[in-house]
Amino acid sequence: MLTTVNNEIGARLHPGKIRSTPLAQLRSGHCIRLQAYKHLTDNTVDPDCPRCGQAPQTLEHWLDYPGTVQARLGIFGTTEALPLSTLSTVPGKSVALARRTL
Ligand SMILES: [Zn+2]
Repeated sequence: MLTTVNNEIGARLHPGKIRSTPLAQLRSGHCIRLQAYKHLTDNTVDPDCPRCGQAPQTLEHWLDYPGTVQARLGIFGTTEALPLSTLSTVPGKSVALARRTL
């Protein structure tokens, strides 16, 4: 709701310059901080995770990656892999995880 209001205000102040929020980017998978997404827009970019190099850095990898386990524990209280639905069911914590680990 707040995001909608902010986007509406932003559209009035800066017509034509609406930017998607970090949460919207995450939910769509079009997050410029994910290598796999960067690769879609520039095939010279390596899609693999810069931290482990073991898999493309997708949303699924980010939510399951062992390198974010401490952040997941601190924010979500679990070391388990997070399902994609986490982005919708716990949006605030999802953004916190993104800010800390992406
Ligand atoms: Zn990785």
